[in-house]
Amino acid sequence: MIGRVLVIAGSDSGGGAGIQADIKAITAMNAFAATAITALTAQNTVGVHGVFSVPPEFVVQQIRVVLSDIGADCIKLGMLATPAVIDAVADILASDAAGIPVVLDPVMVAKGGARLLEPAAQQTVMARLIPLATLVTPNAPEAEALTGATVHGLDGQRAAAAALRAAGAGAVLIKGGHLPGDQISDLLLSADGETVFEGPRLATRHTHGTGCTLASAIAAGIAQGLPLHRAVSRARDYVRDAIAAAPGFGAGHGPLDHAVWLSSGAS
Ligand code: PLP
Repeated sequence: MIGRVLVIAGSDSGGGAGIQADIKAITAMNAFAATAITALTAQNTVGVHGVFSVPPEFVVQQIRVVLSDIGADCIKLGMLATPAVIDAVADILASDAAGIPVVLDPVMVAKGGARLLEPAAQQTVMARLIPLATLVTPNAPEAEALTGATVHGLDGQRAAAAALRAAGAGAVLIKGGHLPGDQISDLLLSADGETVFEGPRLATRHTHGTGCTLASAIAAGIAQGLPLHRAVSRARDYVRDAIAAAPGFGAGHGPLDHAVWLSSGAS
């Protein structure tokens, strides 16, 4: 096992997204996952049925005790839910996690339509978290909400990525999965320039937790010292294979097969 990732995010009782997806993806990358849980969701493949928020002080306590003992080589931010949690996380990261790379998945709305971030918190994400992010990984609707740009294709992805870099993000990955078309293009913009990752769309409804999984797999790669470009391409390959092998659980958007890259288990 190489690389420690501290995940600051929400729990998905259904096991497909959130903290559960994060731990599985990081483990599948052969890295170590620690967690600070921001909210519990009562959730299955059909939707989010309830949210129980963790007080900001307790989120901070989880972060502080993990960093002061275990440490972290990368921090992954997922569902942060409220402006108060975002402010508290931004404060502790600035003081206790200076120098540790941060991957920010700006989670806003679940596939079933449930809000995972209060609308008022979008400004707080932009002001407090984007400047801390080594990499931010919005999908097209999240990129539009954060920047005001219209993201209908590569030109829009390019404009939104530039706006997020101008707002302080070190690198930006604007994912194309929510845009129409048989090909999916994810645009990465960093100090090294632009890369467009392309791949065919897989025809399936079992894509619950793809965003969480991708960001955590990238965070594991960064924790392991991979160059950003390689961490992103490995994570994309992993998510593609995990979607292709999805077990088909549940009546809605089902989970991925996070174990797809592990051995068959026969020993
Ligand atoms: N639930 C939690 C706790 C999450 O963090 C996320 C992440 O985006 C989701 C649900 C959404 O998953 P999806 O939109 O893939 O259904």
